[in-house]
Amino acid sequence: MTETDNSDLRDGEVLCDGPVAPDATVQFIGTIRTPFTTRDLCPRQGRLDGPECRLELLPQWEPALDGITRFAHLDVLYWLHQSRRDLVRQSPRSDGATTGTFALRSPVRPNPIGVSQVRLIRRMGPVLIVKGLDCLDKTPLLDIKPERCAYTPQAPFKKADRDK
Ligand code: SAM
Repeated sequence: MTETDNSDLRDGEVLCDGPVAPDATVQFIGTIRTPFTTRDLCPRQGRLDGPECRLELLPQWEPALDGITRFAHLDVLYWLHQSRRDLVRQSPRSDGATTGTFALRSPVRPNPIGVSQVRLIRRMGPVLIVKGLDCLDKTPLLDIKPERCAYTPQAPFKKADRDK
């Protein structure tokens, strides 16, 4: 989408009043395959009992999956590549009532990073089968982490971890 295409703006929505900075450099580590072929077909948030989806890693990142099957749940970060990035207020119900972008989990944000907690079903080499995603088929994959609550750091605790 170009910066001048405002045809999708809803009543009351507000554009960022200032430059929208160029992208920082992130690297995509793979591609997410889902059954959702249009944004309308995507759920608003993924469900752990949703359809099976595939996290297909580039071959060079396959060794980075070692140890992953110890975890039942993962956090998946992805790049919502079809989102515009210049709204500061949005109208989720298209009724003119608006809310600030950072008070929403809308895909429209300055850095369109989506986060979902997923259930790990199985690993097949560089591919993870998961449930719980809400993104379009072929959404670029940014990162995978063990779900926070189930994760115990392997590195030694630091003083700041113990301080109350
Ligand atoms: N679960 C993530 C989160 O909370 O950060 C994303 C939530 S966002 C509300 C999910 C919606 O983003 C979907 O319903 C769909 O409308 C839209 N979406 C999904 N994949 C997208 C993509 N690749 N580019 C732009 N929008 C996308």
